[in-house]
Amino acid sequence: MESIYSLDIEMLQEYFLSNNQKKFHAEQLFEWLYQKKISTFSEITNLKKDVIKQLEQDFSIEPLEIVKVEKDTDVCKYLFKLSDNEHIEAVLMKHDYGNSICISSQVGCNMGCCFCESGRRKKVRNLKTGEMVLQILQVEKDIKERISHVVIMGIGEPFDNYENIIKLLKIINYAKGLAIGSRHITVSTCGIIPKIEEFMNFKLQVNLAISLHAPNDKIRSQIMPINKVYPIKDLMKVLKKYQEKTGRRLTFEYILLDGINDRAKDAEELSKLIKDMNAYVNLIPYNTTENIQFHRSKTIQIMKFYDILKKNKIQVTIRREFGGKISAACGQLRSKEECK
Ligand code: SAH
Repeated sequence: MESIYSLDIEMLQEYFLSNNQKKFHAEQLFEWLYQKKISTFSEITNLKKDVIKQLEQDFSIEPLEIVKVEKDTDVCKYLFKLSDNEHIEAVLMKHDYGNSICISSQVGCNMGCCFCESGRRKKVRNLKTGEMVLQILQVEKDIKERISHVVIMGIGEPFDNYENIIKLLKIINYAKGLAIGSRHITVSTCGIIPKIEEFMNFKLQVNLAISLHAPNDKIRSQIMPINKVYPIKDLMKVLKKYQEKTGRRLTFEYILLDGINDRAKDAEELSKLIKDMNAYVNLIPYNTTENIQFHRSKTIQIMKFYDILKKNKIQVTIRREFGGKISAACGQLRSKEECK
């Protein structure tokens, strides 16, 4: 049965209309699901009994099973079990500006980036919209606090699950849904060009982050196989078009890997590559994984890289590190349970 959390407002309106019910029931239902956070349809008091009965017949309202919660200072990793016994993870981070959650978009991932633990298991399937919505909703319920920021940077490639991501964005942004401001939502992609093309026509002003990680094709193809399909030149071209169309600032994520992409000349080349763009670079110190091929850049090298970008007037930040101790940091998500 389809989860009620997979439907955006228009779909629910259509559902009620096609059942000869009032369209505004959709908004009422959204309030019950996302603001009052009911766990059964029978808790609804302002819909007629037969409408509720119909909902019970047509949709599931089952939560995801929370299997494990691991806590570290200011960060919590949630392990969820899905109805087909697959596992996914989400990470909650407490910032001074509010609670932010990093959610997964697929079971496994096909992008094969060499440095990423999350991608070591091939894609098993896309997450349904409801399974992504529920990661947020259930963590909100668990901490009894509002989540104000969402990043789609957990396991999976969101643009390889495009339709469901679009529905997710509509649901969590909707005022009667989770009401998360579009500027507080970030989708991160390794650079799937046709989907970036599509995304520039999406009406919500959601942030886009690009996992760039290298200043040229030689290095990028070595560590990110997707670059062989969508090389840097084409990627930059579509990103410029994206910016012309949306006027939105882009984020480039750049992992610093010792001796591979962290040299002074890499920083210079990166500066040149993006100098005309309204973008900022988020430098990510590499988090160790089971892959011994890569090492974290030395702190002095990270600072040098940062300084070169600054000198070249590139906006740059170094990502604050979260969750290393509980393997909840970028690229470390992987449910050990299922990988044994
Ligand atoms: N597939 C999407 C979403 C995943 S985002 C994408 O590639 O953007 C996860 C982010 O963490 C990406 O920028 C990814 O490159 C980065 N990452 C992966 N492994 C990492 C590691 N070991 N250390 C630090 N960052 C890593």
